[in-house]
Amino acid sequence: QSFADLKFCDIIKHNIEMCKYTVPTPVQKHAIPIMSAKRDLMACAQTGSGKTAAFLIPLMNLIYQSGPTDNPSASGQMARYSKRKCYPLALVLAPTRELASQIHEESKKFAYRAKVRPCVVYGGADVGGQMRELDRGCHLLVATPGRLVDMMERGKIGLDNCMYLVLDEADRMLDMGFEPQIRRIVEKDTMPKTGDRLTAMFSATFPKEIQMLARDFLSNYLFLAV
Ligand code: AMP
Repeated sequence: QSFADLKFCDIIKHNIEMCKYTVPTPVQKHAIPIMSAKRDLMACAQTGSGKTAAFLIPLMNLIYQSGPTDNPSASGQMARYSKRKCYPLALVLAPTRELASQIHEESKKFAYRAKVRPCVVYGGADVGGQMRELDRGCHLLVATPGRLVDMMERGKIGLDNCMYLVLDEADRMLDMGFEPQIRRIVEKDTMPKTGDRLTAMFSATFPKEIQMLARDFLSNYLFLAV
């Protein structure tokens, strides 16, 4: 199986080719069709397995298909209103700023020419600069939980339109004590409910705490271990 066999929009296919990815890794081979079919997913996969592209490729394709260019609130057309609230269509939560920036960098490769704009927010860096980036439009937001809660409390980010949610390295996020922030983000009334949105969780391990998160955040999900 190659990426060329998967049913993606031409621009996304082109972007995958530009990355020089020809053969999907095992996690990609299974996760991409599951997420593309909008089925919730619990995937046990390690760093180095290609898990980042496994969720970014279907997210990009779904966002692109949903016609983001018709959505002025997300496309950056209203960027001149600098105090504007940002409503991403997809959210990727990651435990550290290093991982968040890696995911953001990878997402830019798949976003190329697709008019899908990824942004990243993480702690320990200037909030003002991150807010200005959001003002330029944001379809896919990569965030660490603490900084995202902060931005939500400032009224800068709303998750009302967030139909696609990924928790990357979920076990590490719990180890770092982010469970209250994660629950706050996902269980806020404004976020589309479990079952209405697509949710995928990626974790290296599958302990009881992760099983409980999966039970609470995923609906009728498929389990994948690679
Ligand atoms: P990750 O597990 O997401 O951190 O990815 C590990 C590395 O594998 C990254 O440097 C990716 O750029 C690379 N990679 C991901 N998918 C593929 C693929 N299908 N073919 C070749 N390299 C890949």
